Amino acid sequence: MAGAVPIELGPVPERGPDPAPDPVPGAHGGPSVPSRGGRARPPRHLSDLDPASRRTAVQELGEPGFRADQLSRHYFARLTDDPEEMTDLPANLRGRLAEALLPSLLTALREQQCDGGTTRKTLWRAVDGALVESVLMRYPDRVTMCVSSQAGCGMACPFCATGQAGLTRNLSAAEIVTQVFAGARAMARGQVPGGPGRVSNVVFMGMGEPLANYASVLTAVRRITDPAPAGLGISQRAVTVSTVGLVPAITRLTGEGLSVRLAVSLHAPDDELRDDLVPVNRRWKVAEVLDAAWGYAAATGRRVSIEYAMIRDINDHAWRADLLASLLAGRLAHVNLIPLNPTPGSRWTASDPDVAAEFLDRLAFRGVPVTVRDTRGTQIDGACGQLAATARA
Ligand code: SAH
Repeated sequence: MAGAVPIELGPVPERGPDPAPDPVPGAHGGPSVPSRGGRARPPRHLSDLDPASRRTAVQELGEPGFRADQLSRHYFARLTDDPEEMTDLPANLRGRLAEALLPSLLTALREQQCDGGTTRKTLWRAVDGALVESVLMRYPDRVTMCVSSQAGCGMACPFCATGQAGLTRNLSAAEIVTQVFAGARAMARGQVPGGPGRVSNVVFMGMGEPLANYASVLTAVRRITDPAPAGLGISQRAVTVSTVGLVPAITRLTGEGLSVRLAVSLHAPDDELRDDLVPVNRRWKVAEVLDAAWGYAAATGRRVSIEYAMIRDINDHAWRADLLASLLAGRLAHVNLIPLNPTPGSRWTASDPDVAAEFLDRLAFRGVPVTVRDTRGTQIDGACGQLAATARA
């Protein structure tokens, strides 16, 4: 593995999110919309809108609706947001359309890479100063974008770096899609070692609890998966929504008719421990969470991913492996064991390899499909649970 290579893309603010937006370098315009709470909402963007609403938006600018389709082709099919490249649009219209529908939402402040440039984490600054991170991971057979759905997170899981800082705000659908767009464009332009390619997978495993930002995440999923030029055309089956287990939202997702993969961050098979590791368990217990997951599996035919961070002497006991196996045996489930990525200030570390191996064996022995998650990006704090989006210099 190559060492971590930080690439400075711009000044990194030392303070937290600003209440008032600063001007964003390189923005096409697009003022942020002040909300009643004083915090600016991100401006509306093409990615927030379905094709019919895009036409309406363009008509409101006094232009024929088909201009929206042209704009969509540039953005979602050609992956360009540069008005100068939109030569099939009248020159005097390009800037206006881009200003109204392609405002710059996220500015890359810093990029860090490792694994010879095939793992890269980007720190983004939103127009109101909120910070989020995304990670691109290129493997021989796929390219995965790990995206954030919120700035910060309100779920307070004690082993997760994002959870320690609390929630700043929900991201808009377009702020989520923009992270995927950036990866898709870097791949298309051959900027990731290995030659030009496509983003094939998207996982909502960056900062935030996606099901706590339900509407925006659903819109983003549709935009990511709608065929171009309505969206980015990534297969629904290659999109994973990961949740702490917000039961009503899982049930609602079950009714959406999507075929995205659901991942449940279980981390403990018993309520006593899970109440501490995933505090929302005090509201929805293990049995309820799994019931909702099996409902999702039944409706979609898709195996649910059960995420389990292996924490030394905390949740890695043999009896817990057996209890987990009894909860999952015969179900449409797959266990992903994640060696804990220690976060700054945490008293916990990853399980002993021997202990983890026995945990895995006990699940496999009971016929539960189980794999160990690779821990790409650890050196650049880009691995699971490490996204903190502090603007560390
Ligand atoms: N809020 C969602 C998605 C965010 S994180 C969720 O909880 O599912 C994606 C995964 O990384 C989750 O399974 C989360 O529990 C796990 N994770 C968080 N911190 C971790 C850490 N320090 N080491 C390993 N996995 C971690």
